[in-house]
Amino acid sequence: MFELEKLARKNVLNLKPYSSARDDFKGIASVYLDANENPYGTLFNRYPDPHQNTLKQKISAIKKIPVNQIFLGNGSDEPIDLLIRAFCEPGVDNVLIPQPTYGMYTVSAEINNVKIKTVKLTADFDLDVESTTSAWDDQTKLIFLCSPNNPSGNLLSSNRIRKILETFKGIVVVDEAYIDFTHVPGFIPLLGQYPNLVILQTLSKAWSMAALRVGMCFASQEIIALLNKIKPPYNISLLSQKTAEDGLNNEITKNEWVAKIIQERKNLAEDIKKLRIVKKVYPSDANFLLVKVIKAKEVYQKLVECGIIVRDRSNVVLCEDCLRITVGTEKENEALLNELNTI
Ligand SMILES: *Cc1c(COP(=O)(O)O)cnc(C)c1O
Repeated sequence: MFELEKLARKNVLNLKPYSSARDDFKGIASVYLDANENPYGTLFNRYPDPHQNTLKQKISAIKKIPVNQIFLGNGSDEPIDLLIRAFCEPGVDNVLIPQPTYGMYTVSAEINNVKIKTVKLTADFDLDVESTTSAWDDQTKLIFLCSPNNPSGNLLSSNRIRKILETFKGIVVVDEAYIDFTHVPGFIPLLGQYPNLVILQTLSKAWSMAALRVGMCFASQEIIALLNKIKPPYNISLLSQKTAEDGLNNEITKNEWVAKIIQERKNLAEDIKKLRIVKKVYPSDANFLLVKVIKAKEVYQKLVECGIIVRDRSNVVLCEDCLRITVGTEKENEALLNELNTI
């Protein structure tokens, strides 16, 4: 039996959250003298909706998930931090992070003085269920699984993720930042089955709104309530809420961008494979390619010198001599290929 009360930090369960002035009477009052705002001036004189209801309703319709199972953060980085703070007692508890993966899980844990246990993914960057299962202990509260994984680009096997969900007593965070670039539905349809499942998605990648900083977190009503309890009251600005609402009206455009990027990913992978300096292009379900080259640091530096910036992942475990290359426009990809050709 999964019991959230046993897993969450006691101080978080017991605390009384900040009650924001705009919580209780939004919409029913006509005179707001409660929040020390300036009654004159701009479109932005009032504090924004702390619960982002209109935006959540849009997301609810698109993702087919109730509003009370959605948390929105200032980028996915905010729910990553809040999950650690809600569940991990600093200096006591730990999180488990299969490597290589997105760096923010480690950074957030370290900021919060939460210990990190690591385990390696397999050589083809899938979950190693056996070593993962034997890596956690009673103090392990969270496991971070990134699927499609950054920087490798592949989906983790869903039956392996399910194995972890079924055997781990803590929270399993599945980061689906790149799910729109795949042909699978992801884990949202399974939320009802797994009370310990938390899913992260974002408006930063396929939806093309990285600068707005809007990250989405989907989980049970109880877990979402816990995150709401500890979030800064007005964590998403009005400008971001409104602009994101508008952006979400363009789902067709988003799908067209995604289709183009997937086509370009295929073309780029084929062209890169032919280069003399390239040893391997890893299969990708995301909007980037992990590429193993001869002397990655030199290649990286030469690209920098002609104004092309990729991500050097050559110091990362299992990624020796690898560069992570975002799929750009046809023109940008061509510029990259031209330069790589001269190296
Ligand atoms: C890019 C990325 C995100 C997105 O983070 P935001 O803070 O929402 O911009 C989340 N997870 C992974 C693995 C990423 O690569």
